[in-house]
Amino acid sequence: MTNASSPKQAVVIGAGLVGALWTVFLARRGYRVDVFERRPDMRAAGYAGGRSINLAMSVRGWAAIDKAGIRDKIEKVAIPMPGRMMHAADGQLSYQPYGKEGEAIYSVSRGGLNLELLQIADAYPNVQFHFEHRCTDVDLQNPQISFEDLRTGQHKTVEAPLIFGADGAFSAVRYALQRTDRFDYIQRYIEHGYKELTIPPAADGKHRMDPNALHIWPRGNFMLIALPNADGSFTCTLFLSFEGEISFEHLTNNDAVLAFFNRYFADAVPLMPTLVEDFWANPTSSLVTTQCYPWQWQNRILLIGDAAHAIVPFYGQGMNAGFEDCTILDTMYDAYGGDWARIIADFSAQRKKDGDAILELALRNFIEMRDLVGDPKFLLRKKIAARLHERYPGFLPVYSMVSFSNTPYHVALREDDHQNELFRRILALPGIETNWDGPEVERVFTEWVKP
Ligand SMILES: Cc1cc2nc3c(=O)[nH]c(=O)nc-3n(C[C@H](O)[C@H](O)[C@H](O)COP(=O)(O)OP(=O)(O)OC[C@H]3O[C@@H](n4cnc5c(N)ncnc54)[C@H](O)[C@@H]3O)c2cc1C
Repeated sequence: MTNASSPKQAVVIGAGLVGALWTVFLARRGYRVDVFERRPDMRAAGYAGGRSINLAMSVRGWAAIDKAGIRDKIEKVAIPMPGRMMHAADGQLSYQPYGKEGEAIYSVSRGGLNLELLQIADAYPNVQFHFEHRCTDVDLQNPQISFEDLRTGQHKTVEAPLIFGADGAFSAVRYALQRTDRFDYIQRYIEHGYKELTIPPAADGKHRMDPNALHIWPRGNFMLIALPNADGSFTCTLFLSFEGEISFEHLTNNDAVLAFFNRYFADAVPLMPTLVEDFWANPTSSLVTTQCYPWQWQNRILLIGDAAHAIVPFYGQGMNAGFEDCTILDTMYDAYGGDWARIIADFSAQRKKDGDAILELALRNFIEMRDLVGDPKFLLRKKIAARLHERYPGFLPVYSMVSFSNTPYHVALREDDHQNELFRRILALPGIETNWDGPEVERVFTEWVKP
């Protein structure tokens, strides 16, 4: 099928968000790219018209979109969320900006974005998509990829000198690497699962809540969040333990579901007319993290996106990290004059610590979102951090570092530990609730900043 003798030839496995974007980067460089995707072509299957699921895109995602030269196409469907709107148990609303004036994360439709990326990639004559082709194995020695054509049940093999595994958290390409000597692999499920629900548009087509915010109902060990869609709806996600006193295992009938929502998310219930139907129609999905190393095989097979680093969604960074993989690879391409052996080896060696760091930061942010955003001490910390940032622009709160800068994730993680120590000292100051902007805070800060 694909003859792989040409040096400017690559195979991408997986046409999800990262695989589709990476194909655009390769195509722009003049590569002949064969993309193999297990699912049917979402353009024909009408994916964009299906259930709307959205993602938060931040600076790292936009940086890749910019580098690929496609911002105008994506921007038109993105909704800015400059802050989070917290819904207290009694229905009280409070708003926390995420960053400075003008900074926002953006709600984008997963299907819409994927579709747009496929269309952009497919416009290149040097790109060939093979939908309904499931990668079943990779023979690393040749290297040769085996596929099942899901329409015919036929099995095929494809030779390729350069292979990118962008086939997600349960990557078949990674599975082939897992069977090699000294390949490390860790997979963990967290105890929480998630279920997607909907707040439809109001009768006039408008959003039923402020569309320019990420809405959160933090409830200790669990939470509901809602992100706006361009069609006036919100996609909500309930994050809840699978088992335990308050958990999915007790939500077994309509009454239990309604009682749970009325008790914990009372102000959301009137906005969700199809709550019970959606609850049963939509799956309860699990959340997995994976770590592996190396991300490559003999400098010619490379894992990117979730295939290399699958994380929990609580920092809104999984796709952003995968898009940043593309930015970094494309930058290395220039720096190393297109020498893939060096690019692949260096990328795998250098980027791994960032994958591990964002995994840890995302787990930490779960605690922040579900628990701390309703905690007065935490809110005080945010207020002091914002003031320090205003006064000392060099001091960047970690959320801003992750979401509004391209600082490597491992630096952000180190800074998170460092800033936790700063705020431990500041919040221990007597009378800090009233003197949060006083000279004592400045003194602690100045001491902390000293090398
Ligand atoms: C509930 C939830 C919310 C999230 N929210 C955010 C967010 O707000 N912001 C953010 O940045 N990230 C978010 N993420 C993470 C984000 O969804 C992922 O990081 C992102 O989708 C990874 O893209 P990918 O292309 O690497 O993998 P995927 O999106 O999983 O795509 C992999 C592709 O490979 C195909 N494939 C799989 N196996 C094979 C095979 N054997 N052969 C051929 N094709 C195959 C699949 O069909 C798919 O198309 C969220 C994740 C979840 C679960």
